[in-house]
Amino acid sequence: METLRVLELYSGIGGMHYALKQTGISAQVVAAIDINTTANQIYKHNFPDTPLWNRTIEGIPLDEFNGLCFDVILMSPPCQPFTRLGLHRDVTDPRTKSFLYILDLLPRQRLVETLIKCSYTYQEVMVSPTSVGIPNSRLRYFLMAKLSTENISSLANSKTSFESSDTQPPSPSSSPVHSPTEEEHSKGRFLYKLETTDEVLRKMNQNIDLSVRQIQDFLEPEENVDIEQYLVAHKTLLRYALILDIVTPICRRSVCFTKGYGRYVEGTGSVLQSCMETEMESVFKHLDQCSKEEEKLQLLLKLKLRYFTPREVANLMGFPKSFSFPAHIPIKQRYKVLGNSLNVVVVASLLQELISS
Ligand code: SAH
Repeated sequence: METLRVLELYSGIGGMHYALKQTGISAQVVAAIDINTTANQIYKHNFPDTPLWNRTIEGIPLDEFNGLCFDVILMSPPCQPFTRLGLHRDVTDPRTKSFLYILDLLPRQRLVETLIKCSYTYQEVMVSPTSVGIPNSRLRYFLMAKLSTENISSLANSKTSFESSDTQPPSPSSSPVHSPTEEEHSKGRFLYKLETTDEVLRKMNQNIDLSVRQIQDFLEPEENVDIEQYLVAHKTLLRYALILDIVTPICRRSVCFTKGYGRYVEGTGSVLQSCMETEMESVFKHLDQCSKEEEKLQLLLKLKLRYFTPREVANLMGFPKSFSFPAHIPIKQRYKVLGNSLNVVVVASLLQELISS
């Protein structure tokens, strides 16, 4: 096959470029375009030979695009207009329904109409990294399109339903490790840590899904992590302990890391319990019995809760070892650009499907 000429729009830190590389397809990114100067520095650092245009896409005339003679466009436009609805969890979150509804109505319709008018065949999918064995939920909409004059064997005009294992109800084979008592069965009853029985069961089921790897495979060696820098602040612990999404190294799940990770707590991503000698459940069950804040704090500190490092978040997003940040980029910015990016392994598997179809 000839080397494909690829145009990468909204290139950010190059998640799409890494996905393309991961497929092993012979391809060359002929231009990457983004207006975020921090993201662009990181892109340049990792892909010094790729032409990077720091320009607004709508300001680029058609002639200039045509001059690039590209075969493929890879793009991930900003998703904030959609995610502002508060999609932090996965499709089991009831709010997702409205999100999917909005997705059905919004510009996608125009996009799809345009594709049809221009004789493209397309396929739409919703995929979360858990479906490629990565313990992170980040349900995303993908649209793949190809000119119909080409071979389109498997790319029918279709809308594939969810591929994510997040979306499936617990199967009988993955029965929960804990059978709820009748009392607990009463729907919506809070157990500890403001979590309902349903939520606890869902998490347990995720943790025993052996098709997904464990969090520990994605962690940096302990000696590389300056733990003090990543520990959850005392103030945050006292204020938000009950709503933190806590995972341990042996878990097979984590929630989507958004761009506010490390700064805001609610819905921005999971935190890691780095002391395994203490049982999370026992800490939270004793919390109510503490009358003084200081006692509560001492109890919570036992868990040694810390944020995932940017490198670990990148690992969970499928970025290869070769990816790195220029040394001067502050941690806060690293989380921010990662939060905007995508799962490289997911995109690589979709690209593979598209190109080989
Ligand atoms: N796929 C990218 C992230 C895409 S997020 C990655 O792997 O990092 C969307 C990106 O679109 C952001 O980096 C943002 O800076 C860029 N962007 C938003 N509006 C733009 C515009 N009008 N022109 C060019 N880039 C834009």
